[in-house]
Amino acid sequence: MATAPTGQLANPFELQADEGYFWLKGNLHSHTTNSDGRPSPQQRLDGYVAQGYDYLCLSDHYNITRVESVEAPDEFVLVQGAELHPDNPFGGQRHHFVCLNIHEDMDSTKMPPQHVIDKVNGQGGSVWLAHPHWSSINIMRDALPLHGLAGIEVHNTICRTYGRGESSVHWDDWMELENKLYPCLANDDAHALDSESKDTYQSWTMVCVKERSAAAVCEALKSGASYGSTGPRIHDIQLRRVDRPGDESQLVEATVRCSEAQRIAAVHDQVGVEYREPGKTFESATFTLRANARWARFEVVGPDGAKAWSNPFDLTGIERDA
Ligand SMILES: [Zn+2]
Ligand SMILES: [Zn+2]
Repeated sequence: MATAPTGQLANPFELQADEGYFWLKGNLHSHTTNSDGRPSPQQRLDGYVAQGYDYLCLSDHYNITRVESVEAPDEFVLVQGAELHPDNPFGGQRHHFVCLNIHEDMDSTKMPPQHVIDKVNGQGGSVWLAHPHWSSINIMRDALPLHGLAGIEVHNTICRTYGRGESSVHWDDWMELENKLYPCLANDDAHALDSESKDTYQSWTMVCVKERSAAAVCEALKSGASYGSTGPRIHDIQLRRVDRPGDESQLVEATVRCSEAQRIAAVHDQVGVEYREPGKTFESATFTLRANARWARFEVVGPDGAKAWSNPFDLTGIERDA
């Protein structure tokens, strides 16, 4: 029997509309003239509102851009935050932490990373490891010594312009080394103006919530009731235990429903499997995962190569269908 991972996450696809749950689309990483972004905070917000987003964080470097400093439509959710940059005492580059739902500024560049994490968590906020691929973060060296991080930015639009947009290898490495499940964000890290079509409106995180509030969005992100995307939608993921006569191995079957896809990868703590229908696209897939895997996360690849990333699922406690 595989050892169950810690850090249990929600399955957002089990949160039902008839219980009042709905999905919101948002970006949790953006910059304005309060740091090194081109547009003003109001222009940045107006851009995301016009693109049909439901929530946004103006996560300027070093200092909080206050949500009261901009005017959002009634239904729009502003998450207050900042990108903080503590020193990295473990040898890697200076850290980039996307810090959500924070209220007190701190001089993060003069603080060790664990102090920043503790101070943000102490305010009721959460700390996310931003674009580790772009920052050349080594998980074993730079992240394993830290405690209390909420999760990882698996995709970052501006880092993609430098060829280092996706950090899924860091995510898998981290979860495998700690045997702990972490949720992901997919963010733009928007710096440019809309007119540059560079780093805006290309990565987003979907959250499943019961109310339009910053508290609900942040809670959903931390609990894993979310997925990241650069295009595809994930409608449902269901897992069930299956038996093979005479075989005691733990075998789990997955059904994924999504927008049009060319491939679905189920990435495990070790190895993984891929579902394809050669020469065809599909919107539903049922397939068997690798025996005795501890966890799986799903990557849905659309016809144009755009991707969606589910959060990881613990496979060790999946029950047989009654
Ligand atoms: Zn950064
Ligand atoms: Zn940034």
